[in-house]
Formats: sequence, structure tokens, C-alpha cells
Amino acid sequence: MIIILLGPPGAGKGTQATRIMSKNGLVQLSTGDMLRAAVAAETEVGKKAKEFMEAGKLVTDEIVIGIIADRIEEEDCKDGFLLDGFPRTVAQAEALDQLLKDKDLKVDAVVEMKVEDESLVDRITGRYTCANCNQGYHDTNLKPQKADVCDSCGSTNFNRRSDDNRETVVSRLATYHAQTAPLLPFYSAQGVLRTIDGMADIDDVTVQINDVLDKL
Ligand code: AMP
Repeated sequence: MIIILLGPPGAGKGTQATRIMSKNGLVQLSTGDMLRAAVAAETEVGKKAKEFMEAGKLVTDEIVIGIIADRIEEEDCKDGFLLDGFPRTVAQAEALDQLLKDKDLKVDAVVEMKVEDESLVDRITGRYTCANCNQGYHDTNLKPQKADVCDSCGSTNFNRRSDDNRETVVSRLATYHAQTAPLLPFYSAQGVLRTIDGMADIDDVTVQINDVLDKL
């Protein structure tokens, strides 16, 4: 099964991808996570990507398509995968279709997580994750049960993404509308687009996504 989670930054793609992954045994492929790892490791890709990411702009199609093309060749992707943050342009979507066609595969569903712009800035600027297990939290919406202690692993170290600041978020939203939203008609024309209400609470969004997947 090949699933794409599509939605603006802060829609909850990463959170839902982790949940779907554990329920359905699909591998989560997040280009954002892969690029952040490349930046941290100061690889050639990381050096090229850093400036774009800090400005809230997209990294070039060539770089991300290359990353995904290599990643889907790996053994753990052979039974399917869940894409989170890729594709983000029509050129990336076309390249993905071609990569899959070469393997006699195709995208099974694109789940659009629809969220109003007004709520995204607060969602993003308030979010943080456990530095140890990556569990997600939020300053107001989703605090750990015990202050400053991760519910899942007990760690007291947390990370905030450097691009989760107000200025970069505004740029990331504009980028989404200009370059990524055109994927909606692209996938609608393929008959694979399913839209869910991403404004609902986290558990409800998971139920809606699982409903889509159960019908495939
Ligand atoms: P994300 O974690 O998905 O919000 O991605 C963080 C940043 O990584 C984005 O703002 C982009 O700069 C870059 N990025 C992630 N995925 C892609 C992609 N598919 N195409 C271009 N840039 C990407």
C-alpha cells in the first residue's frame, strides 16, 4: 500500500504518520526528517538544503526526488510506505508516479488533511518533541502529564525545530499554497484523493484516516 499524507505545515502529518505506521506496519518516509538528519550530519545534501529550510522555502526537486528514489529501493519499503511531506510539487508527484510505474506500483490514496490557515501558526510555534523518543507535544494543546517529563519514555530533554518560528511559518504556508496545493487537483484527477477534517482532535483524525485506509 502506498499512501501520501498531504496538508499544510502543522496539519499533523508527522503525528498521524507515526500512529498509522504502528497500526498498519507501513514505513513512514518523511523528507523533512531525512533532510534535517542530512543537515545535522553536514552531508553534501544537508549543506545544499539548509538555507532553503531556514527560509521556509522548498529544497530543489532534484534533491528530494533523489532522496526518495534511493529510499524506496530499501528492503523495508517493499510492502508499501507512507509518505509524509513528499511530494510537495507537481514535478515531484510526476517523478514519483514514474518511479512507481517502473516497479509496477501506483499511489493507492492521498489523504488531504484540511486545516484552516489561522490555526496553523499557533499549532506550529507551540510544538516540540521529546529529544529521546520523538513523541510530539504542544505548549497549550498537548502538554506532558507531568511537566517537562516525556509521557512515553520519561526523558526530560525536548527539541524545538529551528524553522518553527513565526516568520518562517508564514513563508512555509505561502509556499504550501503556491507550490503544494496544486497537487490536490493533480491527485483528484487520478481518483485517489480523500479529504479529511484535520481540525478535529488528534484521535478523531486518526479514526478518519484509518477509515480511508480500511476501505482500500
Ligand atoms: P517538514 O518537516 O515536512 O515540514 O519539512 C521541513 C522543510 O524541509 C520544508 O520547509 C522544506 O524546506 C524541506 N522539505 C521537506 N520535504 C520537502 C519536499 N518534498 N520538497 C522540498 N522541500 C522539502
